[in-house]
Amino acid sequence: MPDVTTSDFKFQPYWWDAAAPTVIEGGNLDAEYDVVVVGSGYTGVSAALHLARAGRSVAIFDRQDPGAGASRRNAGFIGRVLKKSYSDLSASKGNGTAKAIYTELEAAYRFTLDLIESEAIDCFASRPGRFIGATSKGHFDALAADLGKMQAEMGFDYTMVQAERQREEFDTDLYLGGAVIPESGCLHPGLYHKGLLDRAIAAGVAVFGRTEVEEIITSSIGSNEVRTTRGVVRARDVVVGTNGYTTKLGWFRRRVVPFRAYMAATEEMPQLLLEKLIPRGRTVIDSNTNIDFFRPAPDSNRILFGGATGAPLSGHEEITIRMKAILDRVLPDARDLRLSHTWNGYCAGTFDLMPHMGCNGRVHYGMGYNFSGITLGTTFGRKIAGRILGEAGVESMFASSVFPTMPFYSGRPWFLGLVMRYFDWRDRQIARRGS
Ligand SMILES: Cc1cc2nc3c(=O)[nH]c(=O)nc-3n(C[C@H](O)[C@H](O)[C@H](O)COP(=O)(O)OP(=O)(O)OC[C@H]3O[C@@H](n4cnc5c(N)ncnc54)[C@H](O)[C@@H]3O)c2cc1C
Repeated sequence: MPDVTTSDFKFQPYWWDAAAPTVIEGGNLDAEYDVVVVGSGYTGVSAALHLARAGRSVAIFDRQDPGAGASRRNAGFIGRVLKKSYSDLSASKGNGTAKAIYTELEAAYRFTLDLIESEAIDCFASRPGRFIGATSKGHFDALAADLGKMQAEMGFDYTMVQAERQREEFDTDLYLGGAVIPESGCLHPGLYHKGLLDRAIAAGVAVFGRTEVEEIITSSIGSNEVRTTRGVVRARDVVVGTNGYTTKLGWFRRRVVPFRAYMAATEEMPQLLLEKLIPRGRTVIDSNTNIDFFRPAPDSNRILFGGATGAPLSGHEEITIRMKAILDRVLPDARDLRLSHTWNGYCAGTFDLMPHMGCNGRVHYGMGYNFSGITLGTTFGRKIAGRILGEAGVESMFASSVFPTMPFYSGRPWFLGLVMRYFDWRDRQIARRGS
């Protein structure tokens, strides 16, 4: 693909240039740990860090190199919203529940930013705000109604941007104005994850990369036997934070729906061009259910962007061509830019579109974040650790006893194409309302 990619093109996350997955084989296994953590992403590492600081012996097992999961592959957007809008949640669960859930999202956002500050993790965390571009007049109206409701009921801060001022936010004709959420933030997800992992190791957590957990067997007296590809260990508590990468653990595989998300980085561009394309340096998403998303890189003059989530793209050529098509369609003035990186990663949806934390006996879990895993993964990990330690204040609206599955579903989402088509249909319905 000589015309589309740079000569030093890499099919790997841009973030890995600064924070490649950490290669840790680990030493010998102890026979027993207080807590075994499965998965070394934000969820697992956040739990492990807090538990180790509280004096517990903790081992993390990851079947890949720590950091090779979604936690060093994502877009680095942090906010206070879910895939389910506030209005949708109010309609299905009632105003009180919607408000409590969105209050918890706000708390998770604050908790994550406070943690980054108190741990002095150098990961370009900032709050430039987010622009949500309306893909039709109907979407603009729906966005204004949803945000208006959130403002009235929760004091949520936002400003609508009319179509004629759209280019002050984002250099496209595709959107008909949109909304600015001034407090939304972003970070370098690779450096954030590396910072957390380094601190967990410094706190005494034993980390075993390239070690898959094949089975967790809970005995009648409540302790757990954890069978790994490296040997068997015992643990009083187990934390499962495997999200879209879950293998082997059947109960979890039947409850999460892994789907691929795709991203790319442009080559470096002149500062002036970057300022023309994203004048205020905010993160940008569109108002569709299946979004395109854009942001300036935190550490160079590039745009990082993604879309086509859930599409069955195979191989780096097909992914790269699709990403370049998104760039050219949305930002025509960037069409001369080549791509320096493309990559993909697995997210996890759930059958009720809600994240879940909970426990089966002393096997605790947090997963199903859709696109909110930076703040929720960090917070769920911390709350799970708090629950194991018997701390107060670890309640969660996401800790329902029901984590739904579907008959005959075993972890292979054959229906993903249908779901994506349903999302597209729903977006067209919203668009029609405004015409
Ligand atoms: C392209 C992309 C863009 C995204 N953008 C955003 C965003 O902007 N903002 C946001 O908040 N979220 C975003 N997300 C989602 C976010 O990255 C995830 O929700 C979050 O990283 C999940 O963290 P985690 O710790 O739960 O899981 P992960 O970081 O995915 O880690 C799970 C780990 O579990 C390990 N594992 C699985 N099974 C086993 C087993 N049996 N034994 C041992 N190890 C096992 C895997 O190897 C993996 O390393 C995005 C995701 C992708 C892919």
